[in-house]
Amino acid sequence: MSKPVSPEARQPKCARCRKHPVLADYRPFCSKRCADADLGSWLNGNYAIAGGPVEDADDAPDRAAPLPDEDD
Ligand SMILES: [Zn+2]
Repeated sequence: MSKPVSPEARQPKCARCRKHPVLADYRPFCSKRCADADLGSWLNGNYAIAGGPVEDADDAPDRAAPLPDEDD
């Protein structure tokens, strides 16, 4: 039950769309479009770093925040 492996199957797929074979000029992407799209994602912050900035934590003592009197 061995089937021949097509050259296309051995070709690495685009890192973004994972559909088209990687083009040498745009490695690891298949085209400039995918390369630009991936870069755009970075710039837009879609690749958020785990444990992002929580600088406001110290300045926002929610525990001591006074609640407004509703029955006053
Ligand atoms: Zn692609």
